[in-house]
Amino acid sequence: MYSDYLKYSRYIGKITHELRQAYYKTGTEEEKREIPLEPSQLNAKQGLGNFPAFYLQGQHCEKSDCGSCTNCFYSEFHYDSPTAKQIQAQCDYVINNFERLVLAEQYGTNEFDESELKFPNAKPIFMTFSPTGSFFSSKEFPEEVRLDFLKKLERKSEELKRDIVLHIEAHSLDVIKHKDYIRSSEETEILRRLHAKCILGFESSNEWSRNVLYNKHLPLNCFDEAVEVLQEAGIEPGAFVFSGFITHTDTEAKEDMLSSIRYLKRRDVFPVLMFANSQAWTLPDLLRWKGKHTLQEPFTVLDTVYDALDILTNGGKEFPGYYLIPEPVEGPPYPEGNIFYDRADIPDFSKTSSIQAHQILKNLRANRNIARFVTDWQRLRRENPDYAKYIERIKQKEANKTSKEERLTMALKYGVDNMPDYIAYRTQRDLDEKGAEEDRYKI
Ligand code: SF4
Repeated sequence: MYSDYLKYSRYIGKITHELRQAYYKTGTEEEKREIPLEPSQLNAKQGLGNFPAFYLQGQHCEKSDCGSCTNCFYSEFHYDSPTAKQIQAQCDYVINNFERLVLAEQYGTNEFDESELKFPNAKPIFMTFSPTGSFFSSKEFPEEVRLDFLKKLERKSEELKRDIVLHIEAHSLDVIKHKDYIRSSEETEILRRLHAKCILGFESSNEWSRNVLYNKHLPLNCFDEAVEVLQEAGIEPGAFVFSGFITHTDTEAKEDMLSSIRYLKRRDVFPVLMFANSQAWTLPDLLRWKGKHTLQEPFTVLDTVYDALDILTNGGKEFPGYYLIPEPVEGPPYPEGNIFYDRADIPDFSKTSSIQAHQILKNLRANRNIARFVTDWQRLRRENPDYAKYIERIKQKEANKTSKEERLTMALKYGVDNMPDYIAYRTQRDLDEKGAEEDRYKI
């Protein structure tokens, strides 16, 4: 079985790598030299939670360069490797504009344990700051620059007399590689004082989904070890859980995410629920362009969140613990295909239903009021005539599906056959839309 898995994942990796390289060839020499002075920025309504997020630009995620992670193209920039000084400039930009970029961007409800706060009479400040790939990668974020940034962040917290809750993102393999350092270093002490939460790339507890469909190259025992290292170091671990792998039906997507959440709950790892859009220059986007991949339906997203909350609250008997649902409509990069919008591909599904579904999710993100989410979702199911049609479609899809291997073999064949046409189409689209996205991701 594992040699078959390897065969498929190599194939997917090759397609993914070639698509990324084709994109990088569209950049000019000038673009490569212009390392930005600002990280990419998401405001509180666009990011992981109700707080702003900053991602360093310039150095590609190492996994992206290797062709991992089928659906992802977060490293969609042309720049040459930045120097430590150029990365530091992006960190300083956030520190020097902290009031506007971070303080003014706190929004809605965020959960924290008051007993752990140094300044219990003031609301803590939530934020994400990370490279595109891994916080602990010295290539993406050199140690001395990281330490300098964290010290400045801690000084901000002291000046403002408010705790900071810092979210960072990392690869499990980097955590393991630097485990002695993470267990005991000045940096870890500061991370603890900044209530750091480290979100690991995980995607799924299912081997086929994680290491074949997503091509993550992540053995489960490595993920478990990274979790232990973080827990021993006093850094709370979280994990990205992905829904919407290529070839999955909506029912499979939901079951996959729910199993992964159960897996994480047993290990005391909080989940970050990612619902897949379609990013340009990826295999899913190529397949979608040819009508061979459909994003999951908006109602599937809500149905999955409903069941996920049931697991996290143990059937409504407990507090859910920390969890995040990033805004599925945003990027970066801004998605080419969006779960909630332009869903002309779903028969008998009105634009109003899509907007209603998205609004219910946006409300949950903003106020984290689970009871209200449950009431709104139940009402929509009762009253919206599109819901019964949705249930019928989902059943039909399940009844008519072929084996997972057959579905993937067909998808890969379409991917290879249509790659030259897709590259020509995407190159032209990028030329036509140049500049629009950069503006969208500035606070
Ligand atoms: S999902 Fe994360 S680890 Fe994978 S390529 Fe994208 S940024 Fe890198």
